Amino acid sequence: MLLARVALPVPLGQVFTYSVGAELAASVRRGARVLCELGKRRVLGVVLEVNDREPEIPVEKLKPVRAVVDAEPVLPEELLGFLQEIARYYIAPVGEVMELALPAVERSAALAVEAPADTRAVGRLVQVAHAVAGVATPKLRGKAPLIFEHLVAEGPAALTALEERWPSARNAVAKLVEAGAVTLEKREEAVDPFTVEVAPDVPPSLTPAQAHAVEAITRRLERGEKQAFLLEGVTASGKTEVYLRAAKRCLELGRGVIVLVPEIALTPQLVARFRARLGSRIAVLHSGLGEVERHAMWRSLRSGEVRIAVGARSALFAPVQALGLICVDEEHDGSFKQEEGVRYHARDMALLRAHRAEAVCVLGSATPSATSVELARSGRLELLELPARARAASELPEVEVVDLRRTGPGPGGERLISVRMFRALEETLAARGQSILFLNRRGFAPSLVCTACGKITECPNCAVALTLHRARGGQLICHYCDHHEKLPDKCRQCGEQAFEEEGAGTERIESVLGQILPGARIARLDRDVAAGKKSERVLDRMRAGDIDVLVGTQMVTKGHDLPNVTLVGVLNADAALSLPDYRASERTFQLLVQVAGRAGRGETPGRVLIQTWQPEHPAVALAVKHDVKGFVAQELEQRREVGYPPFARLALVRFEALEDEVARSQTERLATAARKWGAPDVEVLGPTAAPLARLRGRYRHRFLLRAQDRARLRLVLLGIARAPVDRRVRMAIDVDPVSML
Ligand code: ADP
Ligand code: ZN
Repeated sequence: MLLARVALPVPLGQVFTYSVGAELAASVRRGARVLCELGKRRVLGVVLEVNDREPEIPVEKLKPVRAVVDAEPVLPEELLGFLQEIARYYIAPVGEVMELALPAVERSAALAVEAPADTRAVGRLVQVAHAVAGVATPKLRGKAPLIFEHLVAEGPAALTALEERWPSARNAVAKLVEAGAVTLEKREEAVDPFTVEVAPDVPPSLTPAQAHAVEAITRRLERGEKQAFLLEGVTASGKTEVYLRAAKRCLELGRGVIVLVPEIALTPQLVARFRARLGSRIAVLHSGLGEVERHAMWRSLRSGEVRIAVGARSALFAPVQALGLICVDEEHDGSFKQEEGVRYHARDMALLRAHRAEAVCVLGSATPSATSVELARSGRLELLELPARARAASELPEVEVVDLRRTGPGPGGERLISVRMFRALEETLAARGQSILFLNRRGFAPSLVCTACGKITECPNCAVALTLHRARGGQLICHYCDHHEKLPDKCRQCGEQAFEEEGAGTERIESVLGQILPGARIARLDRDVAAGKKSERVLDRMRAGDIDVLVGTQMVTKGHDLPNVTLVGVLNADAALSLPDYRASERTFQLLVQVAGRAGRGETPGRVLIQTWQPEHPAVALAVKHDVKGFVAQELEQRREVGYPPFARLALVRFEALEDEVARSQTERLATAARKWGAPDVEVLGPTAAPLARLRGRYRHRFLLRAQDRARLRLVLLGIARAPVDRRVRMAIDVDPVSML
């Protein structure tokens, strides 16, 4: 008996087995989607394997595959195999992993019509009216005869187009159909998301360092050899130029390209550069795409008609044909890690996909992650360096430190705008330069405290303080669950009216700047003012010179190329240092170097001021010197001493429940089991309450697993994944965790 092992989109670890009837035997194949029953539901799954092995359940209990949706595999074999390996690596349900690679339309359309390939909905479906050949104009009242004659004269037309001309067309057509004079057909409306016109650019002549890097990469491409590179180049050293050359050569060789960037919405310039060099037939994948556009992009990649995809982390799953090159820009960036569902890291998995596809992978950064540096040290990545900025005139900016312990509040009484920062802003304004001020906190004030009883207003759902926002009439907002409420007029605990705003966020800085720099054009860029497209507008105004001072969160640190920015101020360098996370120092260092890199990208040299409470902290002290190698070396030394990645493997196992006790006891039970299963190679750290002890109404507990050997760690995780868990508890396994909260 023929059996199909099918991955279904359900959060269960297993693969499901169905029988294959004789009539489907020829068409059920690996990679094809099939319609199956799961309980009473009909679901669409992807066939992973077809064989006639003995089933693990009695044959009479097997349900049959209902229908086969695809004649050809929906995913290329290379991608399918890669997805299966992701599922294994992250101990994630294979059906959920498949969903990462299939656009929603592909996942649901065939289900809706419950029928095989020819009725698969693709693109936007429109109703088209045709006049039946040889029929005389029917004698009907109203607009019907007119519409019929129109169809005869002009050919078939979409109902929507007819309605635009004759508002009652739908009715008239229905009558014409009834009279047998017109037939209706569902047709797919062509969607072409590649219509953007771009003028080609003139490639610059490469610097010697760029030429060397391009040579090393293209040599591998030409020989068809797989190799992974770490492209370490200071900010504005021309890394993007290297990706462009490599991508061009790869396409010329007939292979496909994927370019991953941290936040595509914030980097329209990068996309424009790719189009200017490689033409407009580039699939740009971002969260702002509509379902139809997304699907059109997916299909053109799948068919091989478009061979390059650019996007944020999920573009890793683009069905690019004959993949030859993956570039990961700003490889150190935390946004490559997905923090829900399948918790994959797009940079790590880019290395895996490229390796499996015999492709070249280029990880680029000015501040490479300690992990990647270690991979380069051990020879697994080949190191390519761009030590200087690409444009001859442009030098790395001077960095000065302002020790917040030794300076009082500046003008306007604002602690985070020191006198020196204020002077620098004034000087920059006078010289007609632009300034960027960075503060990693949105809102007006991080917390509201009652000075009578000391109570901080907390989120009712999460164990965090509510942030005060002045915009939109004044609100308290939770930055974790988006709970918001009106500003209270008195303390809930003691009834006094004695609130004090503690600390400063971007809103407050913006407002203080307005007072102390009258006449300056000030703008803010953070999630509150700008989601997606809107941030482009702020950046466009900045580029056009309509803004003097831009205050913002890490949105201002991303790779923008703003040549007129001559001052960059970091208001509080230590904000992220105190996080309970072994990467806190690394992250702070990267952030500081990246923000500093925004300064002086044009002709005028730049200046950077870093305000800090801990000037001697290595993350600050070495960022001031742009000493990336020095920082990473000492960071790796420390990680080695305490046994943290990349010198050990970590997995975080987290449990959440509405009742604290339920989550706690479940965590303890599995921690104990894990200790038993893993001894002596796998260490269990914890269990403890998570640093963010309550989130969206759920209490959170966790433990960490640590091991030298991935295989041993995996076995323990498999045990945990399969262990029965209290139904009131949600469990999440996070392999190679990034967020420790
Ligand atoms: P990165 O990606 O390292 O930040 P970019 O590729 O954005 O650097 O380059 C920074 C600036 O230098 C851009 O304006 C780019 O056009 C320019 N540039 C890059 N390579 C060269 C080169 N070889 N000669 C002149 N200008 C260059
Ligand atoms: Zn909350």
